[in-house]
Amino acid sequence: MILLDGKEVSSKIKESLKIEVAELNAKGIVPNLGVILVGEFPPSVIYVRNKEHACKEVGIKTTTIHLKENVAESELMRIIEEWNANPKISGILVQMPLPPHINHHRILNTILPTKDVDGLCNLNLGNLISGREPYFYPCTPLGIIELLYYYQITPRGRHCVIVGRGELVGKPLANMLLLKNIFQYEGNATVTVCHSQTPNLSYYTSLADILIVAIGKPEFVKKEMVKDNAVVVDVGVNRISVNKNNKNITKLVGDCDFEALKEKVYAITPVPGGVGPMTVAMLLKNTVRASKINAGL
Ligand code: NAP
Repeated sequence: MILLDGKEVSSKIKESLKIEVAELNAKGIVPNLGVILVGEFPPSVIYVRNKEHACKEVGIKTTTIHLKENVAESELMRIIEEWNANPKISGILVQMPLPPHINHHRILNTILPTKDVDGLCNLNLGNLISGREPYFYPCTPLGIIELLYYYQITPRGRHCVIVGRGELVGKPLANMLLLKNIFQYEGNATVTVCHSQTPNLSYYTSLADILIVAIGKPEFVKKEMVKDNAVVVDVGVNRISVNKNNKNITKLVGDCDFEALKEKVYAITPVPGGVGPMTVAMLLKNTVRASKINAGL
C-alpha cells in the first residue's frame, strides 16, 4: 500500500516556493495574502492561524483582518474592494463559513478574479467548467490532483468516483478531473459524482479506480465499499471522541475507515497528513502566482 503523504509532498512544494518567493523579493515583488476572518468559529480560527504560519514559512506576507460575527456584509465588501485596489495585496482569502446573515456568493464575487486565490468566484469557476483556463484552481481539488500526480497516479482513462457534491471540493474537483490535456492539469477521467440522495452508494464506490470522499462523516466508507487496489483520497476532517486509558480524548479521522481500507487498496491518504496540508500548500502556490499576475509577469 502506498501512503499518499500530503505532509511530505507539501513540504517539498513549500521548499520550492520559498526559493521562488526569494527570487520575487529580489525583483521588488512581495507576495502578500490578505485574510478576512469573521467571528470566532473555532475550526476557522485554527485554519487561519495555520495558513498564516504556512505563509510565514515560505516568506509570504499576510495581512489579516478579524471581524466581529455581526459585521455588516457591506463592511466586508468595502474591505475587499479596498484590497482589490491595493497593489500591496496579492491575493484575498475570506475564511468560510461566513455567518448566515452574509451572502457568501456575493462576497466571493466581490474579490477580483486575479486576486481570488481560493478560485471560488464565478469567473474562475465558470472558466474551469466552460473550458477556459481559470486564473486559479480551488485549493483542495488542486491539492488532490497535485498529490495524485506526485505519486504518478494519472486520472486519464480511470473511473473517478467522488462522494460529495460540495462547492469547495466535490463540484470543482469533478470538473478538474474532466479537464482535457490542453490545460496545465490533465484530467481526462470518467467521473461519477455521488451525494446524499444517491441510492445504493456502495454500488458506485465499488466501481471506482480512484475514489474521492468529501462528505464530513467519520469513517463512513468501509472496506466492502471499495474495490481491490483502488486509490482512495479521503478529504473529510472529523473530530471524534475516543476513550483512551479511561480518558475521553478527541481524535481527527477522515470519511474512510483507514485501518480497514489500507489492507485492500493500492494507495490511500491519511487523515491528518493527507489532503489538508496539500490544500494549504496550494493556497501558498496560488498566492505566489497572484503576486506574479498582479505584477504583470
Ligand atoms: P459540504 O459542502 O457540506 O458537502 C458535503 C457533501 O457530502 C454533500 O454533497 C452531501 O450531499 C454529501 N453527503 C453527506 N452525507 C452523505 C452520505 N451519507 N452519503 C453520500 N453523500 C453524503 O462539505 P465540503 O465542504 O465539501 O466538505 C466535506 C468534508 O471535507 C468535510 O469533512 C470538510 O471538513 C472536509 N474538507 C477538508 C478539506 C481539507 O483541506 N482537508 C477542505 C475542504 C473540506 P448533499 O449535497 O446531497 O447534501
